[in-house]
Amino acid sequence: MPTTAEIHPLVDPWEDPLAVMDEIDRLKREHDAVILAHFYVDGEIQDIADYTGDSLKLARDAVSAKQSTIVFAGVHFMAESAKILSPQKRVLLPDLLAGCSLADSCPADSLAAYQADLRSKGHDFQTVAYINTTAAVKSLCDWIVTSGNAREIIDRVPQDKEILFVPDQHLGRYLMEVTGRKMILWPGACQVHEIFSIQDLLRAKRNNPNSIVMAHPECPRTVLEHSDFIGGTEKMRQFVVSLAEPRVLLVATEANMIHPLQKLAPQHTYIPVPGITASDGKTCACNKCPHMARNTLEKVRDCLKYGRPEMVWQPYFEKAKGVLERSLLK
Ligand code: SF4
Repeated sequence: MPTTAEIHPLVDPWEDPLAVMDEIDRLKREHDAVILAHFYVDGEIQDIADYTGDSLKLARDAVSAKQSTIVFAGVHFMAESAKILSPQKRVLLPDLLAGCSLADSCPADSLAAYQADLRSKGHDFQTVAYINTTAAVKSLCDWIVTSGNAREIIDRVPQDKEILFVPDQHLGRYLMEVTGRKMILWPGACQVHEIFSIQDLLRAKRNNPNSIVMAHPECPRTVLEHSDFIGGTEKMRQFVVSLAEPRVLLVATEANMIHPLQKLAPQHTYIPVPGITASDGKTCACNKCPHMARNTLEKVRDCLKYGRPEMVWQPYFEKAKGVLERSLLK
């Protein structure tokens, strides 16, 4: 695998961001490219993107985009899914090292061994994977869910089958509650959402009386129990729009999510949880995803300029393609 220095040989920390944006615009036209940005990347990248959204929306946008090149400002499994669903398109990821702790918590060989063990013990199950998994893991699964379509997909699993849910134990536990289906849970978690503690949340609530707590279902149960609204990023957007009166919202998800919420419903005040209180009474965000943060304007520009890093088709993508298509597109 090439090093970041080899991929981005000309990174200059003093470059004018406006000049970089102009260059991106020109390169996009030159290379027939479209930029997709996840809600968890920096706001300046979201602002220059053609499409922003959660994993589900962006996977669909990648398929429907007319352009022949997709630049996916997100993490590796997202670009991989875009390539799998649009094999004829060139898919570029600004930084190949942008991984995901949740995807890493479920290696394909460990999952295959666990599935074999469960079968040998007489379990008759289907495997449902959160989209935050590698393509190798997806190829071992029956269904792929996102936080936006999980309930609907779980309803498709026949009632006489058990469900093995991977890799996020917190999302799995939440889905067990809302769907009433019992699940065998893989013990994975996202490092960003797991960082929230009930102490952080209660302190933020104390500091902001009458606030509304919004939490992503990847958060631990103790945080969800003290939340007023639970939903993925698209649902959070719908929720803030539905509140006409200005409110203070405590947001328990990746801190960059505040950028699209602020743009969409600027009447509210958004505060990231945990809100670590400094001596001046202000709060700071300590919940940024280090993998999403690998995306920068310069790397978006460079991947367009040099045509790499590019997602390359792998033999096991074929099986993952069938699972992704029936789960996300049908
Ligand atoms: S926020 Fe968590 S689940 Fe999302 S990419 Fe980062 S580590 Fe993965």
